[in-house]
Amino acid sequence: MPATVAQHLELRDRHGRVARDLRLSLTDRCNLRCTYCMPAEGLPWLPTADTLTDAEVVRLARIAVGTLGVDQVRFTGGEPLLRRSLEDIVGAVAALRTPGGTRPEISLTTNGLGLAHRATALRGAGLDRVNISLDAVERERYAQIARRDRLPDVIAGIDAATAAGLTPVKLNTVLMRGVNEDQAVPLLAFALERGHQLRFIEQMPLGPRHTWSRDAFVPSAEIRALLAARFALTPIGRDDDAAPATLWRVDPSPGLPGGTVGIIASVSEPFCGACDRTRITADGQMRTCLFSRTETDLRTPLRAGASDEDIAALWAGATWHKPAGHGIDDAGFEPPDRTMSAIGG
Ligand code: SAM
Ligand code: SF4
Repeated sequence: MPATVAQHLELRDRHGRVARDLRLSLTDRCNLRCTYCMPAEGLPWLPTADTLTDAEVVRLARIAVGTLGVDQVRFTGGEPLLRRSLEDIVGAVAALRTPGGTRPEISLTTNGLGLAHRATALRGAGLDRVNISLDAVERERYAQIARRDRLPDVIAGIDAATAAGLTPVKLNTVLMRGVNEDQAVPLLAFALERGHQLRFIEQMPLGPRHTWSRDAFVPSAEIRALLAARFALTPIGRDDDAAPATLWRVDPSPGLPGGTVGIIASVSEPFCGACDRTRITADGQMRTCLFSRTETDLRTPLRAGASDEDIAALWAGATWHKPAGHGIDDAGFEPPDRTMSAIGG
């Protein structure tokens, strides 16, 4: 009976949204120190014993896909390529099936370091596509933002992902006022030349304390104005209802093909009403929102012998209380204690 009950569960909240997109963080560690995400000295990393094992990660993915209606799984971090067993985890998740018998779509958000050597194996294991973070195309500027001089490795990772068929390769950029606004046009030219989709993500108050302010983040309208100085843009809406990026068609221009560009305006034009995400941190805490100040511990029951049905019920029950919005504009807004890399972006 419990299995039958569980088959009818889904990750529905009291505002009518249903989560089908699982963000699974595989580690809180990273080999870069992007200024908007992490302090220069890094963070107090999770002890290995607190981090979900491969078997625990796959079990949670199996519960989500097999019972709770999830049909997309994205691995993130920290830097998910730091997980040596990533290929094995991807392979195990690719073998999962939804109750309808379909395989989940599997993607990866990465800084691209080391991807050059692993793209083919990851594709072979069942990875469908990648999003790669790239905040500048000038080497010095990249090094200033990431606090590591690694731009050539990232570009090698982008090229390897394309060659391996991990497409569409999407590039993610965070613009910061006075830091890399001048990179917006060269970044879009770089992406168009290579046939990638560039997406600008508005900087959110999820980095080191006191590094975000309303004056420092570059809102969507301003990003569009920066791009319009060089490119002709036509709005084409969102990919689908839940896709966070608003897309623009970019006309071909002298020396460059056309393409599309996206802006994820989480701060200036929140899309919480269409959110279809559920998140698991590297230490097995379920979060309904990046900005949640509460988490639901799935690791403890997992390790205490709870059944799949128990875990599914806990996950679904906590999702019911997902807040309507992230509340950045509310009086008294407090960012969560964990920053982006520890949550899983
Ligand atoms: N290390 C991988 C990477 O950089 O792609 C995956 C984890 S990272 C936390 C995921 C995404 O979050 C990246 O695209 C990164 O640019 C973005 N990010 C990190 N801190 C952010 C912030 N404060 N505001 C907006 N986006 C942020
Ligand atoms: Fe690492 Fe990604 Fe954060 Fe940069 S944005 S410090 S690559 S987790």
